[in-house]
Amino acid sequence: LARLRARLVKSNNIFSKSLLALLSRDEIDDDVWDEIEETLLSADLGAEPTFELVETLRQRVTVEGSKDPERVKAMLREELIKLVDPAFDRSLNVKNPGRPSVVLVVGVNGVGKTTTVGKLARVMVAEDKDVILGAADTFRAAAAEQLTTWGSRVGVPTVSSEKEGADPASVAFDAVEKAIELESDVVMVDTAGRLQNKANLMDQLGKVKRVIEKKSQVDEVLLVLDATTGQNGLSQAKVFSEVVNVTGIVLTKLDGTARGGIVVAIQKQLGVPVKLIGLGEGPDDLAPFDTEQFVDALLE
Ligand code: GDP
Repeated sequence: LARLRARLVKSNNIFSKSLLALLSRDEIDDDVWDEIEETLLSADLGAEPTFELVETLRQRVTVEGSKDPERVKAMLREELIKLVDPAFDRSLNVKNPGRPSVVLVVGVNGVGKTTTVGKLARVMVAEDKDVILGAADTFRAAAAEQLTTWGSRVGVPTVSSEKEGADPASVAFDAVEKAIELESDVVMVDTAGRLQNKANLMDQLGKVKRVIEKKSQVDEVLLVLDATTGQNGLSQAKVFSEVVNVTGIVLTKLDGTARGGIVVAIQKQLGVPVKLIGLGEGPDDLAPFDTEQFVDALLE
């Protein structure tokens, strides 16, 4: 965790350095407020949250009558925490005794879905859960193979289809059936991310969901988003949330961006919490999202 934290701090360097520098000035004047605003905007916090936050801070400074940079920094931390965490439940719904919990993992190609499934399987195995993977991304030739590799690395079985271009829904069905047969705790289904158009996506994911519901139910729908794609990621998120009932976000590649503020924009837009963050390509580079840790990384 310390390593992940260090990486998070490092990735948000641009943001943090300038904020710290700003707040170490002797006095907070108008120029400083403008610069704080700019810094928050450049971290992709979004216009509305930024303006509201700076306005709230200015008011608090006026009311308290203290322009002490340390005090302002503490207030900024408090306000950021409120913004990042409007009392979200970030736990995964994977404790359903007596039946396998079903986790559907969705998102466009290349965002890190398959990698996330592999990393998450590893976390669950470490928590003593019996996990099984379903390779329902049947459009991308290498996807099933990639997932199977993760499966054997982590030591869990993967259900996939021999045929390329097989029906994703049938693979999902087989995976859930297998999970029930093996009395697994969790089955994680990796889906295809071909976002040709909304109707097509809706057909595909809708069918996957329907066939799973013939056997069980979908407990968690994790939407994987690439933090480096900024606003583009947000519009993808919107399409997916219109098609399936997203229950949590996995924000990947936070190690490669100083735009961590996107967390706020995503949660605000979807009304769904970021539950996990990806901080690298390795098997251990997945962490639960922790608000205080995240805000501290922004400020450090
Ligand atoms: P998918 O098409 O959505 O299943 O995406 P993949 O899981 O194949 O990942 C696409 C690329 O992103 C791969 O090269 C991964 O190693 C890389 N990747 C995934 N998650 C992260 C992350 O958190 N940080 C970094 N730096 N790379 C990641």
